[in-house]
Amino acid sequence: MNVDLLVVGSGFFGLTIAERVAKELGRKVVVIDRRSHIGGNAYSEAEPETGIEIHKYGAHLFHTSNEVVWDYVRRFTSFTSYEHRVFSNYRGEVFPLPINLGTINQFFRSALSPDEARTQISEQASEFSTSSAANLEEKAISLIGRPLYEAFIRDYTAKQWQTPPDQLPAEVISRLPVRYNYDNRYFNDTYEGLPTDGYTAWLERMADHPNIEIRLDTDFFDSTQPFNKNETVGNVPVVYTGAIDRYFDYSQGELAWRTLDFEQEILPVGDFQGTSVMNYADESVPFTRIHEFRHFHPERNYPTDKTVIMREFSRFASQNDEPYYPVNTASDRQRLIEYRALQDDEKDVFFGGRLGTYKYLDMHMAIGSALSMFQNKLEPFFAV
Ligand code: FAD
Ligand code: UDP
Repeated sequence: MNVDLLVVGSGFFGLTIAERVAKELGRKVVVIDRRSHIGGNAYSEAEPETGIEIHKYGAHLFHTSNEVVWDYVRRFTSFTSYEHRVFSNYRGEVFPLPINLGTINQFFRSALSPDEARTQISEQASEFSTSSAANLEEKAISLIGRPLYEAFIRDYTAKQWQTPPDQLPAEVISRLPVRYNYDNRYFNDTYEGLPTDGYTAWLERMADHPNIEIRLDTDFFDSTQPFNKNETVGNVPVVYTGAIDRYFDYSQGELAWRTLDFEQEILPVGDFQGTSVMNYADESVPFTRIHEFRHFHPERNYPTDKTVIMREFSRFASQNDEPYYPVNTASDRQRLIEYRALQDDEKDVFFGGRLGTYKYLDMHMAIGSALSMFQNKLEPFFAV
C-alpha cells in the first residue's frame, strides 16, 4: 500500500492530522470518509434557492482562547466579526441568554443592581453548593437558583438530552455562564468569528495538498471497500476518528449518544426571527431551537424576500443514526474505561476526535487536540 498514514474521518480532527503529516513530514496520507463530503459535522453548503449558507449538521460557531489554534486556523481562512448571541422563548416571552442581569430583571420584573441580583440569586441558590454539586440539576441550581433553573434549564435540558437533569454530569452546564451585567455574548473566548467564505472553503483548503488523497463514500468497516479495517490495521498506521464503540464491534456495549433531526424550511420573508438562534425553553414545544442562517453573515448580500430556518429536534441515537453528543452517564463512563483498555492493544492505531474519544469537543478543541497528537505521538512515530 503506497500510503504512510490512513486517516478515518475528514472532520476537523482528521483534516488537521492529515494536513500536518502531509505538510510537515512530507508523508502520503489517505483520508477516508463514509459521507459524500469532507468536513464532518462542520460541513456547510449554499442552500440552492436562496444562496444562504446553511450548516448541514447544526449551527457551528467558531470561538477559541487558544493562541496556537487561532494562529493555525488563520492559515486557511479569515474570520468575520460575528459575535454569537442567543435568546430563549419561555412561555411566549423572549429573554436574553446566557442568564445575565437582563434575563434576571425581565424574569423577576425588577430593576436590580448587580449586587442586589447577586444577593437574590445566592438566596435562591442556597440549597446546593457549586463545589459539591453532584449532577447537572444541582450545579445549575447552585449557580442560578431554582426559579431560573426551572424556567430556562430544566425542560430545555430534558428535551435536549432525554435524560433527567439529575442524572446528567454537572460539566454539561459549566459551559453556560451566568453574568451579573448586561453582557449577553454567548461565548467568553478571546477570539470569535465565522469563516469569511464559509466552513467548506476552509476545510477544502486544509485538504488541498499533493500528499493528501481524499476518498469519500468509503466506510472503514465495509470490507468490500479499499482502506477498510481488515486490510489496513497492522499494515499501515491509522488515525481513527469514528465512534470508539463501533471500532470494537460494540463488544463492551453501546455508548449512548444523542442525535439531532433537522427540519429545514424556506420562508417568503426577509427576516423570520430577527436573530440567528432562538431557543425554546418549554417542554410543550417539541424542538429545542430554531436557527435562521442569514443572521450568521449580515455582511453578505442575501435575498431580502426569503429566509432559511431550521428547527432542531433532539433524541437518542440508534446504531444507524449520526452520533452527535456523548450522553456520558455513569455506565457510559465505565464502558469507556473498558474500550480505552482495548484501544491500548491496537497496534499503530491512534484514536482521536469527538467520536473516537467519546468527548464533547468544540471545533477549536478538536483542532487543538489533533495538533497535540501530531506533536506528541505522530512526529515521534514517523521519526524512527
Ligand atoms: P466529526 O466532525 O464528527 O468528523 C468525524 C468524521 O468521521 C465524519 O465525517 C464521519 O462521517 C467520519 N466517520 C465516522 N465513522 C466513519 C467510518 N466508519 N468510516 C469512514 N468515516 C467515518 N463546535 C464548535 O466549536 N462550535 C459550535 O457551535 C459547534 N456546534 C455544533 C453543533 C452540532 C449539532 C454538533 C454535532 C457539533 C458542534 N460542534 C461545534 C462540534 C464540532 O462539530 C466538532 O468539534 C468537530 O466536528 C469535531 O471534529 P471531529 O473531526 O472530531 O468529528
Ligand atoms: N441549556 C439550557 N437552556 C438553554 C441553553 C442551554 O438548559 O436555553 C443547557 C443544556 O443542558 C445544554 C447546555 O446548557 O445542553 C449547553 O448549552 P449549549 O447551547 O452550549 O449546547 P450546544 O450548543 O452544544 O447544544
